[in-house]
Order: sequence, then C-alpha cells, then structure tokens
Amino acid sequence: MKSIICGIDLGTTNSVIAFLKDGVPTAITVEEGTAILPSVVSFEPANGAHLVGRRARNRRAAFPDLTVSSVKRLMGKETTVSAGEQSFSPEEISSCILKYLAERASETLGERIEKVVVTVPAYFDDAQRRATIRAGELAGLDLVRIVNEPTAAALVYDHVLSPQGDESPCVLVYDLGGGTFDVSILEIKGEIKEVLASGGDTRLGGDDFDERLKDHLLEKLREQAGKEALTEDASLKVRLLDIAERAKIALSDHPYVKVNEVAVAMLKGRPLNLDFELTREQFQSLTADLIERTMTKVIEALEEAHLGPEEIGKVILVGGATRMPAVHEALSTLFDQPIAHSVDPDLCVALGAAIQAGLITGDSIGQILLDVTAHSLGLKTLDEIDPQTGDADHFSTIIRRNTRIPVSRSEVFWTVGDQQSGVEVEVFQGENASCAENTLIGSFFYPLKPAPARSPVIVEFAYDLEGLVRINLDQKGYDNRKEVTLDIRNRRVEDAASSGSAQSPVNYIAEKARRLAAEAGLGEELRGDLLRVASEYEAAIRTVDDEDRVDELEDRLLAVMEQAEEVLESGE
Ligand code: AMP
Repeated sequence: MKSIICGIDLGTTNSVIAFLKDGVPTAITVEEGTAILPSVVSFEPANGAHLVGRRARNRRAAFPDLTVSSVKRLMGKETTVSAGEQSFSPEEISSCILKYLAERASETLGERIEKVVVTVPAYFDDAQRRATIRAGELAGLDLVRIVNEPTAAALVYDHVLSPQGDESPCVLVYDLGGGTFDVSILEIKGEIKEVLASGGDTRLGGDDFDERLKDHLLEKLREQAGKEALTEDASLKVRLLDIAERAKIALSDHPYVKVNEVAVAMLKGRPLNLDFELTREQFQSLTADLIERTMTKVIEALEEAHLGPEEIGKVILVGGATRMPAVHEALSTLFDQPIAHSVDPDLCVALGAAIQAGLITGDSIGQILLDVTAHSLGLKTLDEIDPQTGDADHFSTIIRRNTRIPVSRSEVFWTVGDQQSGVEVEVFQGENASCAENTLIGSFFYPLKPAPARSPVIVEFAYDLEGLVRINLDQKGYDNRKEVTLDIRNRRVEDAASSGSAQSPVNYIAEKARRLAAEAGLGEELRGDLLRVASEYEAAIRTVDDEDRVDELEDRLLAVMEQAEEVLESGE
C-alpha cells in the first residue's frame, strides 16, 4: 500500500497539517475542534518535556521564560533559544511542532506518517531551507519536498472550480499572518509556478493591529485613571491584547463591536472597566498606515516583476488577517480583478502542500468544490447620490462574491430624513456598482420609529447552505428590530416579524407590484394590469412546472411595473 504524504504549513504564528482525502485536500483536526495549531512550545523547567499548541500558548502568560513562540523568525540563524535553564536550536523547537502535527495526523489517519511536504516563505534563503529540513529530520520525518508558501496557495486555486475561467498567467499572493507579511508574484506555466518577485515585512502582521488597538484601550483606561499613573505591566498588556484581538476579529464581520470588560486593571483598589462601542471606521483609522505599508510592498513587488496591476490575473489572500475588510478594499482599489478569498486563508497553504504531496505520489487530484456565494449580495442605498456618476441607486455590498457559506455579515446604514417613517429595503445580487445592472432578489418595507436624520440602522445578512438569507434589521438604540428571510434560489421573501414562520412565503415581485398598484396617480388600466399579471405570475409559480412560462410572466410583470414606475415618476 502506498504511504500517505502529508503537507505541512509550518507557520510563524500557527501551523496546519493536511492530506489528500479521496483527491480533495483536507486539513486534519489537531486540537479540540480545530486544525490550527499555535506554533508555540512550552517546556517543563528541567527535563525537556514540553507542551505544543494551544496548551503551550495558554502557559505563555504564566511561564513566559519557558515558552517559545515565533521560532520561525530564527530559522537558519546560528543562535539558541532558552527555556529556563535549557537551551535549544530553532530547528529543535520547530521539530517539536512538526512531530506533534505528524503524531496527530497518524492518529487520525490510522497509519504512521513518515513523509511530509513542508512549506517555507518564498524569500527563505538556503540556510533557512536547510534548517527546515533539519527540523524535519529531528522530528523523525522524511521531508520529501520544500515548497514555497505562495506556490502552495496558488496550487489550491488551480484546483478550485472557478467560474471565472482562464485568467492571465500571473497571480499575486498577499499573505498577512499574525506576525509577518509576504507578497509574491508567480507566473503559472501549468504545474510550474515561477516566483517572479517576492517581498514583505517580517515585522508586520495581525499582531500589530492588536497592538494599535491595545494602545487605544489603554488610553481609555488612562482617561478613567485621571491624574493617577496607570502603568502597563505584563499581565495588563496580555489582557488588553486579548480584548483587542477579539474586537478586531469581530469588526471583520460587523460595523460595531461592544467592548465591555470589567476590572481590566486595578488602581489603588479601584477597578477600571472598559465599556464603550468601537466602530470599524475607528479601528481602520487607527491602523490605516499598517495597511498602507503592505500596499507599498505590493507595489514594490509589481515593480520588481515589471508588471502593472492590470497584468495580474488573480490576487490570492492567505493568512488570517486578510479577513479584515480593509485588506480587501485596498486590494480592490489597486487591482481591477477578482480577489480570491474563497478558500479558508488559514488553511490554504497547508492544503496546497497536501496537493503537492499528491502530485509526488501520483494521486489524482479532484476539483475542490466550495460552498461559496456565486454573487455579491447587498442593498440598494437610496437617495445617496454618487458624486461621480450622479446615480442615486448605489449598490452597497454586504456579502462579497465567493465568500464561503454559511456566513453572517453586518453593515451600518443611515436614515436620510428626520422622522423618516420607514425604508423600502431592496436586496440585490450582482457585481455592479449600480443596482440597475444587478438582479433584484427581494424587497420589503421596514417601518422606522421616529428618529432624527442619519440615525444608524444595522443590517445583518446571514447566508446558509440552503440558499436562505436571513436579514436582521436593527434601528440602533430604538428597540426596533425586524427579521426577514429571503430564499435566493426561489426568490421569495418571508417576513418573520409580521407573518410568522409558519405562513407560506410571499413572492416579492408580486408583493411589490401590489404595493405599486396601491399608489395614487396610476390609471385604472395600469392598476388592473399590475394586479392581474401579479396574480397570474404568482399562480404560475405555485402550480406550473414550466419555468419558461414563469419567466415569461415575470418579464411581463416587470415590464408593467416599470411602466407604472415611470408614470409615477413623471407625475411627481
Ligand atoms: P495566521 O498566522 O495566518 O494564522 O493569522 C493569524 C492572524 O490572523 C492573527 O493576527 C489573528 O488575529 C488574525 N485573524 C484571524 N481571524 C481574523 C479575522 N476574522 N479578522 C481579522 N483578523 C483575523
């Protein structure tokens, strides 16, 4: 029997092991419920016994001298790392991580894993690569191939069933992990991926974003401390960094986060608490220069490869910190092409290493099917006139195309007028900035409580595997919530608040047609047409098993609705 070769992403912050399961790269769970192993080793004081992963990381605050993190930064250097009285080479520490991963994989796969493919950054020099091989040997593993991390990521996207078809042969891999940033440009020639340029910053990563936020939190505490000095000791720093990281992660999916933590610090027996709301905007302005620094490196890499942004066929995101919307926004501004983020950015490199392992063993590699959103989903933001186009129907994306589902994202919108009675919420899917070019999925009315203009409404979209989008609206501070479910595949709207989930869903187009028919100023004939075609269309959806007929009636109904809208507009 052929032995399995596993692929390992030996990362600065986290490491992952994966293998090909029936041709599909799959990450192996190594700790309770997760495939992501913190690259941390914590030693007992004397005998070399150690813990690896989350348990080691948890010991870090209590035993900082015995705990080693980020050893990847030292690979290839003639140095030692001390843990209490003992000292180790960087290779020895890395070998503990490799060994742990291989052991967990052996348990899961029911066979001893002896051969592995390990990834390294594209910029690793010969000494760093040799140190990685040595770490493998010390772990008792046969390291059959070293692969560049961006190459591994690109290999994964080669096997993702992509609706975009063939792109330019150049891809850019943007990898923002916990402690490092790497950017690489690869030229793809079939299985061969040549690194045209690589760069980055080995001292820039998600941790720096935590650090910025931590400083902001400390400021908040100091405001409370008044004139009394509040010093940042090690335990306060650890606590604040933890709060900061959680807030940062929440802000990737939500426009606000509530920071509510008691007794974060004690000042002369008085507890200092944190209780405030942080917006994504505030977080982004605290960290804008960090994103800017990564973009400078991206531009340098393009220059090194003698390529313009338009010559990059695909931008691939790797590393947990690329989940921050600011990363996506900065890249979308520079590159006018798809930003590939559909594969879990934490697992992507390890999955690529598993594919490389499969190529070595001659296994056939299947297409990776991902549950992703086929189109971007969002709202029409009414009355907000785009200064460039003069358009009033701006499409505001909430869930981007190719996002893995299930997913839940929220954004904040603002009312326009004082005492506005409500908003017509129109949900669209598509990629165009103008709603007119996208597809209307559903619409419904959301009544507002009396409030001044520009009061915030939080809109959350939760998209599940069945194609249902649950929309939650919350007029912030007014206890006014509404939940509506949209069936994307069958284009139906179900209003949980007013109809209850037991009732059958109403058809949104027919609904809208009826609302139009109720408007004053329409002629009798048009009103009659609207109601009649709406009923025919609804009946056809329920009873006719003929999609062409349904489509034909839908087109007719949309045409009458357009006519009615024109009449109403011209009458104003
Ligand atoms: P990695 O080294 O690739 O595992 O990335 C770890 C970094 O990604 C850490 O700084 C995490 O805080 C960060 N990270 C993970 N998930 C998110 C998220 N949803 N939003 C922002 N940062 C994240």
